[in-house]
Amino acid sequence: MTQNQTPMDVYASCVFNDTIMRERLPKEIYKAVHETILNGTQLELDVANTVATSMKEWALENGATHFTHWFQPMTGLTAEKHDSFLSQEADGSVLMEFSGKELVKGEPDASSFPSGGLRATFEARGYTAWDPSSPCFIKDGTLYIPTAFISYGGEALDKKTPLLRSMEALNNSAVRVLHLLGDTKVKHVNTTVGSEQEYFLVDKAKYLKRKDLLFCGRTLMGASAPKGQEMEDHYFGVLKPKVSAFMHDLDEELWKLGVPAKTKHNEVAPAQHELAPVFENSNIAVDHNQLTMEVMKKVADRHGLSCLLHEKPFEGINGSGKHNNWSISTDTGENLLNPGKNPDENTKFLVFLIAVITAVDEYADILRQSVASPGNDHRLGGNEAPPAIISIFVGDELADVLDSIAGGTVFVKKEKQEMGGAKVLANITKDTTDRNRTSPFAFTGNKFEFRMPGSAVSVANANIVLNTAVAEALDEIYDVLKDVPADQMETTISGMLKDMLTRHKRILFNGNGYSDEWVAEAEKRGLHNLKSLPDAMPAFISDKSIDLFTKHGVLTKEEIFSRYEIFLENYSKTIHIESLTLQEMVKKDFMYGLVSYLKDLKCVGIDDELIASLEDAAKGIRETLKKLKADTEKAEEETDVQKQAEVYEAVVLKDMDEVRKYADEAESLIPDQYLPYPTYGQLLFSLR
Ligand code: ADP
Ligand code: MG
Repeated sequence: MTQNQTPMDVYASCVFNDTIMRERLPKEIYKAVHETILNGTQLELDVANTVATSMKEWALENGATHFTHWFQPMTGLTAEKHDSFLSQEADGSVLMEFSGKELVKGEPDASSFPSGGLRATFEARGYTAWDPSSPCFIKDGTLYIPTAFISYGGEALDKKTPLLRSMEALNNSAVRVLHLLGDTKVKHVNTTVGSEQEYFLVDKAKYLKRKDLLFCGRTLMGASAPKGQEMEDHYFGVLKPKVSAFMHDLDEELWKLGVPAKTKHNEVAPAQHELAPVFENSNIAVDHNQLTMEVMKKVADRHGLSCLLHEKPFEGINGSGKHNNWSISTDTGENLLNPGKNPDENTKFLVFLIAVITAVDEYADILRQSVASPGNDHRLGGNEAPPAIISIFVGDELADVLDSIAGGTVFVKKEKQEMGGAKVLANITKDTTDRNRTSPFAFTGNKFEFRMPGSAVSVANANIVLNTAVAEALDEIYDVLKDVPADQMETTISGMLKDMLTRHKRILFNGNGYSDEWVAEAEKRGLHNLKSLPDAMPAFISDKSIDLFTKHGVLTKEEIFSRYEIFLENYSKTIHIESLTLQEMVKKDFMYGLVSYLKDLKCVGIDDELIASLEDAAKGIRETLKKLKADTEKAEEETDVQKQAEVYEAVVLKDMDEVRKYADEAESLIPDQYLPYPTYGQLLFSLR
């Protein structure tokens, strides 16, 4: 921003949004596009042609020379192939052209994207199809067109297609339930998402010296610094100038692209930060989160920093997640998860709340699978927020309301407490929900916060499962209510909610999700505790999962199996690369440092005890490395994808831990100048 510009001037300045379309498109064309965006109606080619021309003119005026279909293949990243607007005439002159056909459809070669066996190599063609519901934007001189990516046979090869299908499924199921409840004005229901993004910032020069960060995004070894997060002095702490300058620049870049970046602060771990956007419709929110991650990396680089999005870059301090705040709202402007003043009397709210509770309990294992990634295993299976067991926190007041429904008793509202504090402070009454930081799925006032997704991956998966599972729970409700006469509606609803709650209240838990007692209690309640990705995957291909996704038209059986394979392959490949990286780092770089130090020590001939400790560590490293190498080779040979992932998890990761134990022990004895890479202390505390 220049000095006399405000955020309002730059916000969405690079976006071909509704305002621009209204300004630039002929009235009927604008209406047709608007209709397509709202209701998904097919766009006629002549309409697309007019939109394309207008888009091209706007893009050229704003400095773009190329366009690209922007899509989200199963790599979890985004993909793009740029074409210039240039076209040559017969007489050799050039024109800038962009047709409706080019706007709505692309044909990238799909053979090098993961398809999990869906697309045999002889049919390499894939199609990208314009998603008019997510606005086009200009970035680095290119017009970006959000698209879905499908195979020649029409199967989804990306994350957007099933997300859009799941939103449609929830819309269909929710609207008919709302109509039964008497809310006949509602035509469309949308899911909303605000995903808080956690990340680490480290000095770029130091980052470049660490092969583990470079190849794997996380440190594979490194002794703890004398200080970690125990002082609790980083959370919400004063922003360091370098970090503040980065955040300032990041906000501006995101605003230009129409990404509503709103909140920024330091997180719990040293060098860890968070960005939260204003929530949007879930399709756009997912696109915008992908953009946010990309822009974060780019802006960090410009500031001499590296942005780490991995779920667990450092051992011994918190990892990073992506809290998926989620709600459902109507086209009449109502948030269906807003309890209002008297939640106990708010039937619509209770129906939707209990639908979510039902969905999460019924499909907890699939929801867990949706957030499985090699990086996230270090959070969910490890000892940090949140635990791998899915439970729901609703807060005290709602818990009382739900208890009274399940028990058939009368709900008695407790007096609202006033907050303590000095007289000069405003009188703030307490929220209906207190904060519970350990719950994986928490009701936070008028939305649910799903805290399990990892920081590095697209939140599409989590939302696909959430939307579809809630659609299914709403269908269950619809079936109970559809033929009930008006005069019996109220009693039928009460009975139905009581019955649903009785069946699913085991998922409700307001206590401490970290305690051992909870693990034991959860087991007694029959809740899943799926610690790793290989543990979580079988649920995804279970009959229950296939029934759910096929019934709602979100994923076909073939698509489910292909995704299953992609998840497992990605897991094994990731750990394979980690193993090779660790082997190289230790064998070549670290041992060189260790041996050099030993040699110097021996020259001086002092401190036999230190020499003996270092020699022990060197021996330990050699032995554990040998085992790691052999086990990694064996794992690579395994042909069954599920078994292979299990071997990487149970054997290779454990071997890596063993190597690390010796290396970290030695590192804590070796002076910095002998170490081939920056230490935890230097990485986490050197930014000013
Ligand atoms: P906290 O850190 O306490 O969870 P934040 O304010 O950092 O709270 O984040 C809350 C997130 O929830 C924001 O991204 C916000 O836009 C989002 N949010 C608020 N209301 C809704 C809603 N109805 N649907 C989806 N997300 C929402
Ligand atoms: Mg949060």
